[in-house]
Amino acid sequence: MTLPRIKVLALGGTIATRPDASGAMQMGLGADDLVAAVPALAVLAAIDAETVSKVGSHSLGFDQIHALATRIAALDVDGVIVTQGTDTLEETSFLLDLLLDRDIPVIVTAAMRNPALTSPDGPGNLLAAVRVACDPWVRAHAKALGVMAVMLDEVYAASDVLKVHPTRLNAFAAPQTGPLAALVEDRVVPLSLPVREALTAARARIGDTSGGKEAPVALLWLGLDEPGYLLEALVDHRNQLGYRGVVLGAMGGGHVPERVAGLVMQLADLMPTVVAPRAGGGPMLKQTYGGPSSEIALRKAGLIWGGRLNPLKARVLLETCLRAGLDRAAIAEVFEPWG
Ligand code: ASP
Repeated sequence: MTLPRIKVLALGGTIATRPDASGAMQMGLGADDLVAAVPALAVLAAIDAETVSKVGSHSLGFDQIHALATRIAALDVDGVIVTQGTDTLEETSFLLDLLLDRDIPVIVTAAMRNPALTSPDGPGNLLAAVRVACDPWVRAHAKALGVMAVMLDEVYAASDVLKVHPTRLNAFAAPQTGPLAALVEDRVVPLSLPVREALTAARARIGDTSGGKEAPVALLWLGLDEPGYLLEALVDHRNQLGYRGVVLGAMGGGHVPERVAGLVMQLADLMPTVVAPRAGGGPMLKQTYGGPSSEIALRKAGLIWGGRLNPLKARVLLETCLRAGLDRAAIAEVFEPWG
């Protein structure tokens, strides 16, 4: 029997660390090391491993993920596993999902416990990711599943997966939708297929981003009694600061403190400004509350609605739209189907 051909692309992260002389964990392991640590992989797949970088995911850049997507798009394989750090996995996997339109499984995995600790999760996660990539149901539904994250024996859609804890082993979840599948014994048990209309529409609208340049997007989290000094700086010094768009981590169903409502509206006149729920995700309100800083007024003033995307994913989508050269109206159209 011919085994599925799986490409493992290693970017770095905790999964790829090793201790230095002082005991501090440093980037060090490459893709071959990760694969060699899991002999059971050889039974499942013909693995080809490649080290792309050795960086913590907190230091990855949009350009690197775009280059990775271009690389993955050109691969002649049956499945792709990206290993990286956990810190930005919820963003990088979503960006890959926006950029890739492949009919093979593309899976991102990582580790919370480093290789020097007792029971590190990296080897188990890599084995689970390869098992998922080789699974017949996953392969048959690869396009419908889109890019997936596999962590701690669960499979998540890239649009929905969040890092919900900074240190514990079960740090990943998809609070709005739950997992797509679970691993048990040596089986992948399907649970659901993701709803991808908004993503596929966004992808079609965004088109080719290869000629695009970095488009910095500011992310401002709005808290109780926010005085708005940073918003003021964005309004007054837009050109010096260099941001081309803003995502506001807004309150509740899409509200900002009344004292900054005017600034937020001025900002929306100057550059695409997206309101996303600081509660972590979930559809927002569109037409319930009145008043100067609620959803009705903000939407009327031209704020773009992030819908069910949490602020981090909304920032990734906005960067991608700006990089592709979309104008404000087109960006609003891309965001609208997210709910
Ligand atoms: N800072 C690390 C990273 O994201 C954490 C991890 O991998 O879990 O690369």
